[in-house]
Amino acid sequence: MPYQINEKLKKLEAYTPVDEAEGIIHLDANESFLNLPAALLQKVGELVQTVNFNRYPDPYATELCQAFGAFYGVNPAHVTAGNGSDELISILISAFLMKGETVVTTAPDFSMYTFYPKLAETNCVEVCKGDGFSVTPEELIQKVQSTHARMLLFSNPCNPTSLGLTKEQVLQVVSNVNALVVVDEAYMDFWDMSQSVLGQEDQFDNLLILKTCSKMGMAALRIGFAVANKTLTGIFHAAKSPYNVNTLTQKLAALVLQEKNTLQAETMAVRQSRKYLQQGVQSILARHSGAFQLYQSCTNFVTIRFPRASACYDFLMEKKISVRCFPDFLRITAGSDTENKMFLATLESYFEEA
Ligand SMILES: *Cc1c(COP(=O)(O)O)cnc(C)c1O
Repeated sequence: MPYQINEKLKKLEAYTPVDEAEGIIHLDANESFLNLPAALLQKVGELVQTVNFNRYPDPYATELCQAFGAFYGVNPAHVTAGNGSDELISILISAFLMKGETVVTTAPDFSMYTFYPKLAETNCVEVCKGDGFSVTPEELIQKVQSTHARMLLFSNPCNPTSLGLTKEQVLQVVSNVNALVVVDEAYMDFWDMSQSVLGQEDQFDNLLILKTCSKMGMAALRIGFAVANKTLTGIFHAAKSPYNVNTLTQKLAALVLQEKNTLQAETMAVRQSRKYLQQGVQSILARHSGAFQLYQSCTNFVTIRFPRASACYDFLMEKKISVRCFPDFLRITAGSDTENKMFLATLESYFEEA
């Protein structure tokens, strides 16, 4: 008998990043448009020289978790480091759910929330957002209860809608379900840290917060964090693979997180860029009334919704501008000044020709 690949694997499609064609403007992956500053890159070079390449990494990334804790004002004993928050999501789904148990997420939301449950053969139920792309705490609570879900997983603010739930709304959900609530705050720094539930983890036995450095100029390093009370953190440490974060990443990310002023300045620059992009898109909408729906972004990208999004996407791609295309909306990452201007001019010309 020949070897048979199982059904769930046959249906998988490999992740396809956008072509690295010459001169393409990347506004598709929510990366920072700023690389680390030169002075910091200098220190990075020196730090690489100190690595014991023959030794395994620290399994608990102690120094890195301390730097993360100091940056966000959380207890380092509540922190687990991961090879990107992607890895942490994968561990959450495969270890915190039993086969056949249910996780609730929202739609649209981060694509990995439905990908890992498929692989793990757990149930995934989505709360569908309507026209305004909003979702209420009551809807989330109701769905978790009616499906007897063991986990609720969503991003806040949300990728790809760019909208956020307030801290009170999130805590209302956490207090009213028996499930583990995983709040992915990948974009919170671009909104308002006073809406973050970081620091609340000790008040609840069912709250876990995900953070990442990927949107803060360190996408290349692959580093994410899970924050939860001591019990959950202990379980996370036991469930992850021992050497999941390599030594280079541990040292470099710790170095960058210690440069609080630099990181905060870069975050401010990204917020400025987002604001510029949002206003530019708003004024295009004013000139082409009803052409699309625009959401008030709390993130480092802007989301616009209209039925012919994919035709607009093709038009932008012809002009070498890459954004993220969903069936009926586009997600545009805030870029450099030049990139934003190119995008806005091209979007305007699309609606003039249309
Ligand atoms: C980009 C993003 C992440 C980051 O994942 P990493 O694996 O840390 O790069 C996590 N969650 C959401 C919602 C994101 O958009």
